[in-house]
Amino acid sequence: MKYEVIVSGAGPAGSKCAEVISKAGYKVALIEKDTMWIKPCGGGLPRSSIYRYYPQLRKLNLIKKNTLAMFSADDHKLEYSYEDSEDNPIVIDRLEFDNLIRNVAVDAGAELFDKNVSYDFIYKDRKRVGIKTITPSGTKTYLANIIVVADGMSSKLAHKSGLRGKWTALDIGIGKAQILEGQNNLNEKGTYFFFKKYGYCWVFPIDKQKFNLGSITYYENNLKYNVNDLFNEFFKELQIRKLISNIDYKMIWSAIFPEPATGVLEKSMFDDNLILVGDAAGFVAPISGEGIHGAIVSGQVAGETSIKAIEREDFSADSLKEFKKHPNIKKIIRLFKFQRKFVNFFYENEGENLNKIFKMAENNKEFKENVINTFIFGRTPPKDFISKIKSTH
Ligand SMILES: Cc1cc2nc3c(=O)[nH]c(=O)nc-3n(C[C@H](O)[C@H](O)[C@H](O)COP(=O)(O)OP(=O)(O)OC[C@H]3O[C@@H](n4cnc5c(N)ncnc54)[C@H](O)[C@@H]3O)c2cc1C
Repeated sequence: MKYEVIVSGAGPAGSKCAEVISKAGYKVALIEKDTMWIKPCGGGLPRSSIYRYYPQLRKLNLIKKNTLAMFSADDHKLEYSYEDSEDNPIVIDRLEFDNLIRNVAVDAGAELFDKNVSYDFIYKDRKRVGIKTITPSGTKTYLANIIVVADGMSSKLAHKSGLRGKWTALDIGIGKAQILEGQNNLNEKGTYFFFKKYGYCWVFPIDKQKFNLGSITYYENNLKYNVNDLFNEFFKELQIRKLISNIDYKMIWSAIFPEPATGVLEKSMFDDNLILVGDAAGFVAPISGEGIHGAIVSGQVAGETSIKAIEREDFSADSLKEFKKHPNIKKIIRLFKFQRKFVNFFYENEGENLNKIFKMAENNKEFKENVINTFIFGRTPPKDFISKIKSTH
C-alpha cells in the first residue's frame, strides 16, 4: 500500500509529525520499533508550552513545579520560584507520555506499525520511494512520497540517507537516568540541577515517592569519565544524601543513552523526498540537554511542510527546504548555535567559569535572572554576559 508520508519513529518528533499530516486528511504510516520501549530521559519540561501542543496532557494532572534549585560543583546554590501559571514546568513519565502522543496521532488517522525496525530505503530509478523494516514476521516494505526520519539518536535511516555521518564522542552527551521510588526529603514541586566539571546531574521528583535521577557527561569528558561511575558518585554526595537519604530505593527503571549535543545539523535536515526531525537532526538544546520541545516543534513544522509539498505535488529538496526556512526552526537553530558557544565557555578549565557564574549570581539579582533565563528558559542572555564573567575574579 502506498502512503503520502512514512514517519519512522513514534517518539515526540514522529508522533507530532504524523498527527499533523493525518489531520489534514493524508495517509501516514507511523513506524515504531517498540511501543513499550522507555526512552532514557529526565522527562523534565522546563517550559510547559507543551500544553499548547498537547492539551490532552492536562488529563494527567501532572504536578506543577514551583521551585528550582541549582548547585555549582563548588557548592554555590541558586534558588528560583516560578509564578503560579498554567505553564509551570512539569516532569513526565516517558512511557506514559510517548504512548499518549502516539494515541493522539492514531486518533488523527495515522496508521501505527509497532515492532517494525526501519533499516534502509527503497529506491526506484535512483529515487527514494520507501523504506524497509524488520518485523518479528520478516522484512516489510512501505512506500510513500515523503519519508520523515524521526527515529532518534541512533537512526539507521539518517545515516543511510548520506545526509550525515555517524556521531563521534565529541558530538554527544552520554546520560544515565533512573526512576527510583521510596521515602525522600525532596520537594515534589521542585526540580534540582547539580552542575559538574564534566556536565551535570539532576533530580526531578515525579510524585511524593518517585523521582528521576541522572548524570550526563559532554564532549571530550565522554572519553575521560565513565557515566556509570559518575552516577554512583553523585548518589553518594552529601547534598544528595540530605535529599534522598535511603540506600534501598526501589528501582523502577534504569538506562544509559546518548543525546546529540552540538545543536541542529543544518546540512542534514532535508533532501529529495526526505526530512530529518528531532534527535535524528540534532534538535537538542546544548545547555540543558532538553530535546522534547525541539522534537515536537520540528515534527510539527515537518508535518506542515509535507502537507504543502503534497498539495503542490513537489517532493524535491527544493520544495522541502521550506522546513529549514520556517521561523520556528530558524529560531531554534539560532538559539542552539548561541548556546553551543556558551557551553564551551562554561566548561573551560574543568568548569571554572560555571563556578564563577554561580558565585556572581548569588550576590547579584539581575545577573541571577540572566543565568536562570539562559540555563532554564533557553533565552538569549545580554551581550555583555560573558565579558562580565571574564572580567570577574
Ligand atoms: C539521559 C537523557 C536525559 C534526557 N532528559 C531530558 C529532559 O529532561 N528533558 C528533555 O526535554 N529532553 C531530555 N532528553 C532528550 C530527549 O529525550 C530527546 O531529545 C527526545 O526524546 C527526542 O525526541 P525524538 O522523537 O526525536 O526521538 P526519541 O524520543 O528517541 O524517539 C524515537 C522513536 O523512534 C523509535 N525508533 C528508534 N529506532 C527505530 C527504528 N530503527 N525503526 C523504527 N523506530 C525506531 C524509538 O523506539 C522511539 O520511539 C534526554 C536525553 C537523554 C539521553
